Amino acid sequence: MIEDKSPARTEISSLGEFGLIKHISQHVLLKNESSVCGIGDDAAVIEYKNGKQVVVSTDMLIEGVHFDLTYCPLKHLGYKAVSVNVSDIYAMNAFPKQILVSVALSNRFSLEAIEELYAGMLLACDRFDVDLVGGDTSSSRTGMVINITVMGEADKNEIVYRSGAKPGNLLCVSGDLGAAYLGLQILEREKKIFLENPNIQPDMEGNDYLLERQLKPEARKDIIKHLQEAGIKPTSMIDVSDGLASEVLHLCTESNVGCRVYENKLPIDMVAEQRAKEFSLNPTMCMLSGGEDYELLFTVDIKDHDKIKKIKDVTIIGHMTEKAEGSNLVLTGTEMLTPITAQGWDALRKK
Ligand code: ADP
Ligand code: MG
Repeated sequence: MIEDKSPARTEISSLGEFGLIKHISQHVLLKNESSVCGIGDDAAVIEYKNGKQVVVSTDMLIEGVHFDLTYCPLKHLGYKAVSVNVSDIYAMNAFPKQILVSVALSNRFSLEAIEELYAGMLLACDRFDVDLVGGDTSSSRTGMVINITVMGEADKNEIVYRSGAKPGNLLCVSGDLGAAYLGLQILEREKKIFLENPNIQPDMEGNDYLLERQLKPEARKDIIKHLQEAGIKPTSMIDVSDGLASEVLHLCTESNVGCRVYENKLPIDMVAEQRAKEFSLNPTMCMLSGGEDYELLFTVDIKDHDKIKKIKDVTIIGHMTEKAEGSNLVLTGTEMLTPITAQGWDALRKK
């Protein structure tokens, strides 16, 4: 177990709840002007100026459901927990500013383990320019639970909803897809081998990118900045947490349109594609249903075509159509249309 790796072990009970909160808050510095009051009072105080709208989201991560501490280092878990939360704010074309972190812990976890978790969260806070302004601490009888609430801001006119896509809009996605899911397959495979024979060292050779995509996803702050610099406001947007298929269908449903996605345009990393084949998985299925990519999926007006082409790391994968045409994938080679269905990563896992 990762939390037992370090020889030093300070019981949380030796500090108590308030001691722990005080210990955590020692490492917290506020950097945003809008963070008026952070940890320490009954509530945080936030002030967004110039009539900005507040964008809020919350996500819960449960040990055994969303993460597995046999292979997920606590520092990575902390980073990921913040990253997946701020991703939802970027998906609204807004910028995250504050987070509240609530944790439930059992006595299995030492102070050193919690320090690792918070070190990862604070690293992500730096990376995404957010302040940790509060939270809650509770004991848990079983595993760890982490709940993060994130707040951000945007001008009213800048906020992008899932519902704004129009027929003829270009459908775009950032980065590449499927790698996080394949990273998970590798971790699960090595865990199984390890449980069967603890003397065998895990073989992670050549899989750095896939493991990083699974363990330490990066919310795409850069894409939101590039879009703004290019003067592009997407007509609709969503982040890819459950797999491309599911997210495309969300945009279609909320916007009341159909779409045509081209299989041969879907972006996949070379190693990811190779590993998919080794696992006897269809690479396209990994991209459509794998999940946890935390890329941004968005639509833009056709007039922005040339501007979008210039943005690095964005791929045009199709376009929106009238609703009556349905939501279809154009298969490579045959050019045949097949309806997009959302299986989600859960269904894909069932063998
Ligand atoms: P209350 O009893 O009013 O809920 P707490 O003692 O739980 O107050 O919290 C005191 C302060 O510490 C508050 O500012 C709260 O937001 C902050 N806090 C509590 N737990 C955490 C945590 N796990 N991480 C960050 N801040 C926390
Ligand atoms: Mg409390």
